[in-house]
Amino acid sequence: MMITNPRRIVGSNAERTRLHNRQVVLGHVREKQPIGRAEIARISGLSTQAVSNIIAELEEDGLLLEAGRQSGGRGLPALQYRLNGDGAAALGIEVRPDAMFGALVNLEGETLFTTREALAGNSPATVAAVARKIRGEALAARLMSDQRILGAGVVMPGPFGNVGISGAGQSALQGWEDTNATALFEDALHMAVIVENDATAAAVAERVRGVASDLRTFCFIYFGAGLGLGVVADGEVQRGTFGNAGEIGHVVMTPGGRQCACGNKGCLETYASRIAAQAELAKAGIEVGSASDIERLYQERNPELMAWLDVAAGPLSQAIGMIENLFDPETVILGGAMPDAVLDHLISILTLPGGSVAVRPDRKTPRVLRGASGRLTAALGGAALVIHDTITPRITAKT
Ligand SMILES: [Zn+2]
Repeated sequence: MMITNPRRIVGSNAERTRLHNRQVVLGHVREKQPIGRAEIARISGLSTQAVSNIIAELEEDGLLLEAGRQSGGRGLPALQYRLNGDGAAALGIEVRPDAMFGALVNLEGETLFTTREALAGNSPATVAAVARKIRGEALAARLMSDQRILGAGVVMPGPFGNVGISGAGQSALQGWEDTNATALFEDALHMAVIVENDATAAAVAERVRGVASDLRTFCFIYFGAGLGLGVVADGEVQRGTFGNAGEIGHVVMTPGGRQCACGNKGCLETYASRIAAQAELAKAGIEVGSASDIERLYQERNPELMAWLDVAAGPLSQAIGMIENLFDPETVILGGAMPDAVLDHLISILTLPGGSVAVRPDRKTPRVLRGASGRLTAALGGAALVIHDTITPRITAKT
């Protein structure tokens, strides 16, 4: 599939400035709440009159609430404001080859609703219809009927566009190469849509509420059907030119190794991914549908699953060493569609290379951590991206 630039900025200069100033005010309120208009004006450099106008607008939209008065010395104590956490929400949808997940998250990052829908097929028309269904259920379940919906973050496995690894077997969506995914979902959901790579969205979720909340530079290895990599460098997600940065699953870790659907031999995801685990289990006649099937097999110490873990740990360890030397992250997080217990086991048997920039005497964070957001992590990340875009000013929007 293609994505039109998901961070596109539309409208006139005046409109962009207005949106930017709204983001600035919301951003300061979130950071310093409760806060009065004079202080917002002082920190932001906007005039008190401009701040007053924006606050009136944000109150009208239900995004800000009055939070009492605070005495600043002389005169009438100043009115204070705080975010109205339940005043707005964002929808997150994750598309996997065999299932879709939905999450509704409010302005403060609280999860209001989640759902999972099994997919019989993953053509654009089928996925759009299920996305519409998720939208209907999420909106019916929201806390308050007048809650504004800011938009949707739809996350899906890459690659985006018609490239060398398009349609690579079970880990990719089929028939999407020439689909404009942003337009498809905006049409299906009747709201503004950001389309993002699943691993990148998972990294954002982990930063908003998870083990990366205090980290500025980290990598996230995302177990979808295949394997993706999300990179956050100095607080910013790294997307690449076409949104395809982080296709770690199709990096050859074992030259001449297992045949991959992309055409390469020895790709990482032919060893360390959910489809690799499923292939190993299928040899013993065991079919797995969901993460809870894998969880049960792990509790039983199923020999095929344990054998898969032992094989996966080698190439994955090498990949982590490579990621460390490429990005110099504070840590590498593992998460996604695998049960926590399985990821914990995998982490415990990694043999990380000693020749890595991550090996240093003053390390404070372990080299590898398990994510805390669970199997909904990418859907939550999709919603978090929308909220982030509402509250955080983009440098490009400055005029
Ligand atoms: Zn491959």
